[in-house]
Amino acid sequence: MSADHPSAAPMVRFENVRKSYGHLTVLDDLNLDIAPNEKVAIIGPSGSGKTTVLRMLMTLEEVNDGVIWVEGDPLTHMYRDGKLVRANKRHIRQVRSKIGMVFQHFNLFPHMSAVKNCMEAPITVLGLSRDEAYERSRVLLDMVGLGDKLDHYPGQLSGGQKQRVAIARALAMRPKIMLFDEVTSALDPELVGEVLNVIRELGEAHDLTMLMVTHQMGFAKEFADRVCFFYAGKIAEQGTPDAFFGNPQNERTQQFLSAVL
Ligand code: ADP
Repeated sequence: MSADHPSAAPMVRFENVRKSYGHLTVLDDLNLDIAPNEKVAIIGPSGSGKTTVLRMLMTLEEVNDGVIWVEGDPLTHMYRDGKLVRANKRHIRQVRSKIGMVFQHFNLFPHMSAVKNCMEAPITVLGLSRDEAYERSRVLLDMVGLGDKLDHYPGQLSGGQKQRVAIARALAMRPKIMLFDEVTSALDPELVGEVLNVIRELGEAHDLTMLMVTHQMGFAKEFADRVCFFYAGKIAEQGTPDAFFGNPQNERTQQFLSAVL
C-alpha cells in the first residue's frame, strides 16, 4: 500500500508500544504502520495480544510505553512546549473521534431501539439535532439491511442483526478507521455470513481503514490487504494474504495455520 501513497502519513502508527498487566507482558515493542484505506486482518492464537492492540487504539486500555499515532497526531500524547507529554482527555477524545469499534458482544444499549442506539453518540458527542441524527442513522441501518427494524430493541433482534446495528452505530460517527474485534465469534454459524457481507461491502464502498481481529481465515484471505500474525505479543509474520497463507515462513505461523485451516 505504501508504494501507492508515497507521501501519505500512515493512518495509524504503533511506535515501540509496550503493554503489560502486572508482570505479564502482553505486547512487546510493537511497531506497525497502517496506510490510509488499508484493510488489515489480525490473527493469532488466543492470548497473543490481538484484542489489546485494538483496545489501545480505541483508548480503552492505556499504553505503558511508546506512542500510537493517528494521521500523524499522537493519540495518547500531545506536544507541550515542544515536548511529547501524556495527552489530556480533550485531545484523546478529538483524535479518537476518527475511530469506530465493533465488539464481539455487540455492546448495544438494551433499553434503546436500533435507531436510538445509532443516534445517541451523534447527538451527545457531535451535537447533531435529533432530526439529523435520525436521518443519518436511518440511512445507515438501511445500508446494513435493517431499514425495516429501526424501532426494534436489541432483545427483538438476532445476533447477526444486533451486530449489524453495532456496525451502523459505529459508522454514525463517520470514522476514518473501523476496528472489528472478533465480531462474528459470538454468532451462530448461519448468522456469520450476513455480518461478513456487510463488512465486505463497507470495505468496497467506503474510504475506510479497517483493522479486524478475526478467526475467519477464509474471510481474512479474501478481504484483507495484509495479514498480521501475532504470537506472544509480537508480530511474528505479516504479508499479503497470498504470501501469508500460500507460503508462510515462520514456524509458528505454519503450526497455527495447520491447526486452524
Ligand atoms: P487475544 O485477543 O490475542 O486473545 P488479548 O489481547 O485479549 O489476547 O490478551 C492478551 C493477554 O493479556 C492474555 O493473556 C490476557 O489474559 C491478558 N489480559 C487481557 N486483558 C487483561 C486485563 N484487563 N487484565 C489482565 N490481563 C489481561
